[in-house]
Amino acid sequence: MAVSDQQLIQAWSEVLRLSRTAPGQSVAILCSVVTHPQTLRCATVAAQAAGAMVTRIELPPINADKALSRDVFGYLGETPLTGNATAIAALKASDLVIDLMGLLFSPEQAEILACGTRILLAVEPPEVLVRTVPTAADRERVLAAAERLRGARTMHVTSPAGTDVSFRLGEFPTICEYGFVDAPGRWDHWPSGFLFTFANEGSSEGILVIDRGDIVLPHKRYANERITLQVRDGYVQSIEGGVDADLLKEFMRSFQDPEAFAMSHVGWGLQPRCNWSTLALYDREQTTGQDARAFEGNFLFSLGPNNEAGGKRSTPCHIDVPLRHCTVSLDGEVVVREGKVLDGNLR
Ligand code: FE
Repeated sequence: MAVSDQQLIQAWSEVLRLSRTAPGQSVAILCSVVTHPQTLRCATVAAQAAGAMVTRIELPPINADKALSRDVFGYLGETPLTGNATAIAALKASDLVIDLMGLLFSPEQAEILACGTRILLAVEPPEVLVRTVPTAADRERVLAAAERLRGARTMHVTSPAGTDVSFRLGEFPTICEYGFVDAPGRWDHWPSGFLFTFANEGSSEGILVIDRGDIVLPHKRYANERITLQVRDGYVQSIEGGVDADLLKEFMRSFQDPEAFAMSHVGWGLQPRCNWSTLALYDREQTTGQDARAFEGNFLFSLGPNNEAGGKRSTPCHIDVPLRHCTVSLDGEVVVREGKVLDGNLR
């Protein structure tokens, strides 16, 4: 559904309020040729209305010769900021960067955050943003779950489809995404509402089964048949199934990088305003599939880099797979049972 400027400005105003945007702050809006014009327009108005000094920085796209799709997360690695000292200096000098371009997993992003600059990524279309305006309650819920994940030393995940996989935890921090940036140096993504950590290096063991109907990103496809991934010593050793398995395997192999097959982040979704079914309604060019990453009760696993959490692995290949109907246990205590989040009275 089309969104009025008034409604989108209101949504941005709320997100900027939650992100502690105050008069006199410097807000940089990072954009590119693919930035949605209405999002750019309304974010600019809302930031100005909040009393901020607004600067737009538009950078030309790169990586078109290497990426296999137009998806902003379909190829990681160098970003339009790489080597661009002028743009980096401007972003470092800002209190808040509204990223309408898509930095993600880059050393430049880490460098900017280290200066205390807050970065909020928002690349989904306007109607998705309006539907998923974050709340203080989203933050509380994610933080409460993070408390449990942070203390855990093992995660075990099973599903009726045959998933049975274990991860040792503790080497990497727990990362919370709740859709706004309320502290210096914080990065977040609107929409979100989930949490994750990374398995200890080499510790992931078992079987991951992507069932019919589960979503594979960045392909933005619902699997039509089961895909079975054997995981040993922290790496996916085999990917078996039919055509869907072949699609995943060939995409990953095209990067010619064994690190693409490493286990990356693992966690679960807590956002009731995001839906498993939304992707079916969209042309794949229109969305990055954030509904799929955040819907309540998913078990989201990822393959590829772990440098976002301080690990050494960077690879341009990054696969996200939200599974339905999983049971997730931390040190033997169930936190998600068959796709239902067990966090008591918060909702
Ligand atoms: Fe991911």
